[in-house]
Amino acid sequence: MREKISKVNLNAPSIILVATLWVVFILNITFAKNIINDYPDLWSNFVFYFQIFLFIAGLFVFELMLLATVMSLRLAVSVSILTASLASYFMNTYSVIFDAVMIRNLFETNTAEASDLMTLGLMLNVFLTGVLPILLLWLMPFKANGIWHSIKFRITAAFVALLLILSSVVIDSAKMTSFAREHRNIHVYANPIYPFYSTFRYAQEVWPFKEELFYHEITQITEVSPQPIKNVTILIIGETARADHFSQNGYHRQTNIYTSEHPEIINFNHFYSCGTSTSISVPCMFSYQNQDSFDVTIAPFEENVLDTLARAGVEVVWRDNNSGSKHVADRVTYQDYSRPVNESYVCAGECRDETMLTGLDELIRSSNGDVLIVLHQMGSHGPAYFQRYDETFEVFTPVCLSSELSQCTQNEIINAYDNSIIYTDYVINESIKLLEKFNAYSTNVIYISDHGESLGEAGLYLHGLPYGFAPESQTHVPAMVWSGDRSNIDRALTSKNSENVYTHDNLAQTLLSLFGISTTNSKELPQSFIVFR
Ligand SMILES: [Zn+2]
Repeated sequence: MREKISKVNLNAPSIILVATLWVVFILNITFAKNIINDYPDLWSNFVFYFQIFLFIAGLFVFELMLLATVMSLRLAVSVSILTASLASYFMNTYSVIFDAVMIRNLFETNTAEASDLMTLGLMLNVFLTGVLPILLLWLMPFKANGIWHSIKFRITAAFVALLLILSSVVIDSAKMTSFAREHRNIHVYANPIYPFYSTFRYAQEVWPFKEELFYHEITQITEVSPQPIKNVTILIIGETARADHFSQNGYHRQTNIYTSEHPEIINFNHFYSCGTSTSISVPCMFSYQNQDSFDVTIAPFEENVLDTLARAGVEVVWRDNNSGSKHVADRVTYQDYSRPVNESYVCAGECRDETMLTGLDELIRSSNGDVLIVLHQMGSHGPAYFQRYDETFEVFTPVCLSSELSQCTQNEIINAYDNSIIYTDYVINESIKLLEKFNAYSTNVIYISDHGESLGEAGLYLHGLPYGFAPESQTHVPAMVWSGDRSNIDRALTSKNSENVYTHDNLAQTLLSLFGISTTNSKELPQSFIVFR
């Protein structure tokens, strides 16, 4: 046997090629099933399947090369195939998803629990799809190359992997973007990439240097001026709303159906975002860094304006119907509204933004001091704009009823998008209505979107372009302020300045001034965009 095998000439490229084909075609059955389930039409999706093949193959080779920086190539292949083989069995048999929680479970499981899983099926499966190919790999003669040759080879292979990934996207970027955003349920079955990624996430969670050890305050509170009456403010962080689709900013369609009933609302028509994606804009707008110096990897460990407010005694509550606070609310009360855990939630597949208003009355009544409630919306998150609102808000028709924007006309896409803006306008108005009940307090509603959106202009869709290249539609955001009759906002002076150019950088000082807080870094911060009495 060994004689015969030894006639086969093994070299590094052939090992990678065979391992990649093995992993993609044998160990990704659940992933493939899910792809075909979501993209059932074989003929029209043929090119897309090829894109996915290139993408998964590229990711796998890249993962191999990462592992091969700390071990031999054959060991890296063995670890990857064994992991994929085990994961594939549990995915195929139990539909297990190997997320960070599952990896945590694996590491914390005891032998009794583990032995329950040791079935004949598991052993047979892992022997055939994992152990056997690994045995063959180690039985065949393999001539190891010198160190420099190995390094050069790894770099080249990693580069080829990146090329595969890039070309998979370039073939049809719209299709891949929609796959990346709208089919997250499938990503978790990419094997062994997702299990490895989750292990990395888990390692980050349990790493002994926890963020508390790094977290540091960067400012000191010098004064908190006593407020005559309790201040209750709702700050709505919008999602993907672009300024020029708000009728308040001159859009030819009436998209501010509800808030236009409030002449006391002050609209800011020259407001710009810090980033072109949620993951940058949200932490940036609450940080004390300005857009030009903002570092998203440092932000989680640095005091942000919500930390300061909480330290000054303001009750800060972050309610989220989006993808989390991006570490902004790590140290304040955080409530997840994206899952239907309560019967009173308004959920249709996903939960509606108005759900975040549930029980706010009691929260406001029961709090002793000032309150800031941040509502992080789902808003107009694309490309499935039509899924962001209920039928009542379908004012503009026909709408694009697909996440594949390439299948819709631009008009259908814009109709669906504008309907989602109308729903956001409804949510802003519902927040105002809620605070109108508390007319003994100083009440305010502040709305700012995180970034804009491209809707097919110049062939561009969605958002996230590098800021320097991004069209204004992705960076010019709607912003408005409503204030109750006893609010500490000076409407006349604020209104007078409302034509000025402001950015997310102006939010930190605005929130400090809103609650009468002075800090040692107040002078360096860009000014408040609201004038207070
Ligand atoms: Zn966003």
